[in-house]
Amino acid sequence: MNEIPTTPLSFNQARFQISAAKLHQCPTDAGAEVAFAGRSNAGKSSAINTLTRQTKLARTSKTPGRTQLMNFFSLTATQRLVDLPGYGFAKVPEAVKLAWQRNISDYFSNRESLKGLVIVIDSRHPLKEFDQNMINWAQAHQLPTLLLMTKVDKLKKGPASAALLTVRKAVAGLEIPITVQLFSALKRQGISELENTLREWLSNDGQPEISEQA
Ligand code: GDP
Repeated sequence: MNEIPTTPLSFNQARFQISAAKLHQCPTDAGAEVAFAGRSNAGKSSAINTLTRQTKLARTSKTPGRTQLMNFFSLTATQRLVDLPGYGFAKVPEAVKLAWQRNISDYFSNRESLKGLVIVIDSRHPLKEFDQNMINWAQAHQLPTLLLMTKVDKLKKGPASAALLTVRKAVAGLEIPITVQLFSALKRQGISELENTLREWLSNDGQPEISEQA
């Protein structure tokens, strides 16, 4: 049998594709994508840059004018990462928050190619209201979820394990199981664990797997 060697998806292929405010501006809804969300300053950009081995990629999302937009990064012709807009709670008017919620809710409800959600949280301040809301939305839309507890280098080993356990307990027993892991962009810790989860989600693109030559 002539097996075609399948090279694992490489995240450093990520390239900025497009920014979108609304669902109809998103790339064609085909293939598979994974979205990243997080409170401002949680470490989302650093996590995306570490994952993709690029220093500038997520900076794209912080370019003025793009901070309130969904930013799409293509990995392959059919696989994408999506950086969802965050907001600084004090700084943004209520109307902007509501518009953000509407657009994201629309995206979550209708996006066929959305296969998973990564919620980036600061290990020292886990499960704030924003995180709980995102978890609730993901559950409501039956979306596999990963809680990426980043900046773990700021905690000693004992408190880091305790924080992981606390968060795992808090989300245990939900209808759609949630994965929780520790991460550090600074120490480059937890990258392969994150990659494994993303590869699993992104391989679910609705296309038949090509594993053999006819
Ligand atoms: P974002 O607003 O969620 O995109 O957060 P950023 O990625 O811009 O990070 C916010 C701040 O936290 C920056 O000063 C980063 O340098 C810092 N930061 C992000 N990730 C880590 C990490 O893993 N360890 C440490 N020590 N600092 C981090």
